[in-house]
Amino acid sequence: MDFALTDRQRELVEAAREAYRRVLEPYAADGSVEGVRALRRVMAEQGLLGLNMPAELGGVGLPLLDTLLVIQALHACSPLCGGLAHRTSTGACGAIEAYGTAEQREKYIRGICSGEIGISIGMTEPEAGSAATAMRTRAEIVGDEVVINGSKQFVSAVNVNDYTVLYCRFGTTGRASDIGAVIVPHDAPGFQHSKGTVNMADELLFELYFDDCRVPKSNILLDGNAFGKLISVYNAERLGSISRMLGSAQASYEYALDYSQQRRQFNREICDFQGIQWMLADMRVKLDAAQLLTYRAAATAQATGLPEALETSIAKVFVAKAAKEICDDAIQILGANGYTKEYPLAHRYAEVRGGSIYGGTMQIHKNMIAARILDRKISQWKKD
Ligand SMILES: Cc1cc2nc3c(=O)[nH]c(=O)nc-3n(C[C@H](O)[C@H](O)[C@H](O)COP(=O)(O)OP(=O)(O)OC[C@H]3O[C@@H](n4cnc5c(N)ncnc54)[C@H](O)[C@@H]3O)c2cc1C
Repeated sequence: MDFALTDRQRELVEAAREAYRRVLEPYAADGSVEGVRALRRVMAEQGLLGLNMPAELGGVGLPLLDTLLVIQALHACSPLCGGLAHRTSTGACGAIEAYGTAEQREKYIRGICSGEIGISIGMTEPEAGSAATAMRTRAEIVGDEVVINGSKQFVSAVNVNDYTVLYCRFGTTGRASDIGAVIVPHDAPGFQHSKGTVNMADELLFELYFDDCRVPKSNILLDGNAFGKLISVYNAERLGSISRMLGSAQASYEYALDYSQQRRQFNREICDFQGIQWMLADMRVKLDAAQLLTYRAAATAQATGLPEALETSIAKVFVAKAAKEICDDAIQILGANGYTKEYPLAHRYAEVRGGSIYGGTMQIHKNMIAARILDRKISQWKKD
């Protein structure tokens, strides 16, 4: 067991930071749709998209742990860059890479890695949040097409993306075994999306509407019996979003550490006060522990193929809580400055706050951990 990063991993992290400083920073300041698309293309040129996607499909071909380290480093520089690195590496492309046909892999993975296209994940519905398998959106194969009816909500990045990997029902049994996935182009007839709802971190979350939406049958990714398969790949997506939380926690810790050595009160630096020192020590302990749990899940995945569900949930629960606390302490160390939007910490806090909700809430992950350690199937469904 070796807890140290290799020289190569350290170089990768430094190269990502250097690419941000040298090239990406001006692009990352423009959050408009065109700005994000331009940033995506520049990141592709820098080899910062499709980090763990196969090299023969235009990806960088990194192992999962190295991918997460780069996502964390980029996210610490800029949440926009970290988000793009994540979504194009362990995001929707993971399911296409694992289960897509040769044509789908060639078209979508290559397009994602070159920065030309972006793909969202559409799973949550108004009546199916934590109870994801209660989804109702239905896909029916009619001739050479799939006809889709239903709706989704809280879907990220739809305005800057071109497709959504849509989780939907192919059968009518009402069981999880009906669930499959279709790749829906955002210009498909019968597809519409809302203007977006602004969340705490000033990001947009979209509703998707499917009204006899028609896409070619060749866009089917999995036509049923697929929920378990989709979720096992989704655990890699979760580790990507966990790494983004680590990036924000790291950036907040480093900012507060530096500030505490500049700001003077009572004629001395505030880091001289034990109250501040203990907060800094707590932040560092939590950051190290959060990183180690995440790296363990990634290292196991490298050995076994996909991330292990228990290790992923353990990392998720710890990191989501630790990141909130680290960002909160960082705000405290900056006093009123930390609470204003002139400084970056309020945004970092707002952003990591979402980590307790997306990708399965904290409570759902604790349910999954309990089921594993008790070795019981603990159904959450009320019996009639
Ligand atoms: C920033 C952000 C980005 C997102 N991006 C996407 C996206 O790209 N695509 C997508 O499909 N979705 C996305 N989501 C939606 C996300 O997946 C859902 O919000 C999440 O699954 C929870 O569903 P819900 O919000 O409906 O909460 P609910 O399921 O209504 O839960 C409400 C509360 O009840 C608790 N609860 C529910 N069931 C149980 C239980 N059995 N045991 C204990 N507690 C329980 C929950 O933990 C929570 O505290 C995003 C959400 C956020 C915040």
